[in-house]
Amino acid sequence: MPASHQRPALTVLVAAPRGFCAGVDRAIMIVERALEKFGAPVYVRHEIVHNRFVVDGLRAKGAIFVDELDQVPDGRPVVFSAHGVPKVVPANAEARGLDYLDATCPLVSKVHRQAERQVEAGRHILFIGHANHPEVIGTFGQVPDGAMTLIETQADAEAFQPAPGVSLAFLTQTTLSVDDTAEIVATLERRFPDIAAPKGEDICYATSNRQAATKEIARRAQAVMVIGAPNSSNSMRLVEVADRSGARARLIETADEIDFDWLAGVETLGVTAGASAPEVLVRSVIDKLATRFDVTEEEVLTTTESITFKLPRGLEAA
Ligand code: SF4
Repeated sequence: MPASHQRPALTVLVAAPRGFCAGVDRAIMIVERALEKFGAPVYVRHEIVHNRFVVDGLRAKGAIFVDELDQVPDGRPVVFSAHGVPKVVPANAEARGLDYLDATCPLVSKVHRQAERQVEAGRHILFIGHANHPEVIGTFGQVPDGAMTLIETQADAEAFQPAPGVSLAFLTQTTLSVDDTAEIVATLERRFPDIAAPKGEDICYATSNRQAATKEIARRAQAVMVIGAPNSSNSMRLVEVADRSGARARLIETADEIDFDWLAGVETLGVTAGASAPEVLVRSVIDKLATRFDVTEEEVLTTTESITFKLPRGLEAA
C-alpha cells in the first residue's frame, strides 16, 4: 500500500467487564420468554432497559412498549422494566387481572426491601440518586409519601434538615458514581453520625466493576468512547469517570456516531459499554474504527463476573 494510503495506527483498549450485566440479561430474557409463552404482543411498561438497539430488537419480535398500565389491553401480559416500579403498579395490574412479569433487577428489589425495613423501623430515608430516573421513582414508590427525601448532590447533603428527633437512614440508587456517592455519604455521616447505612453496598457490582475498568483504560488512553444511551445512568457515569481519569470522553449510541475529527491525533483509544449496551454494538464500533485506522485491540481486564439471576417461575427454560 503506498505510504499516502496507510491508515494511522490506533491501539484500542477495550474495558472488561463492560456491557450487559446480569440484571439486563435477565430482563431481556423475560421479555423473550414471555413472547414464546404467550405469543405476540407482549406489553412492556417503559423501556425494558435503556438501550434503543435492545428495545427495537424486542419490538421487532412483538413487544409493545408503553408508558403506563392503562395502555395495556385486558387479557395481554405485561412486563415491568429492570429499573423497578412503584408498588401501585403491580397492585393495579392485579386489580385488573393482568398477567404481569416483573423484570425488576433483584439488586434493585433488594434496595426496595431495605427501604421498607427502614420505614418499619421508624427511620426517615435519605435516598441518594438522580431525580426522575425510573429506578428512583420505583424506589420512592415502595414507601409512603414523605418517608424519603432525595439527595442528589453534596449541597443537598449539606442542606438537609431533619425534623427534630427523627432517626435517619440512607440508601442509594444502584447505578451511581462510586466516588461521588462516597463523598455524599461522608457528608451525611459527618452531619448525622447515627445515620443507618445500607447492609452492604447499594451501588451494584456491575456499576462498580464497569467504573473500575473504565478508570483503567482512561488512565492509559487519550480518549474514551462509552457505548450507551443518554438516559442510561450507569453509561453517563462511565463518561464522567473516564473524563476525571484523564481522558477526554464521549458517549455514543452506535458506530454511526463515531466522530473521526474528534479522534484526530489519538493513538490510544479506550472503548467501554454501559450495562444496557449489547456486545454487538462494541464489535460494530471496533469494526468501523478499523475502516480508518490500523487497529490493535487489547482487552483490559480488571475483574471477572460470574453473577446470574434466576428467571421468574414459569419462564424457566423448558
Ligand atoms: Fe441490576 Fe446493576 Fe444491572 Fe442495574 S446495572 S440491572 S442494578 S445488575
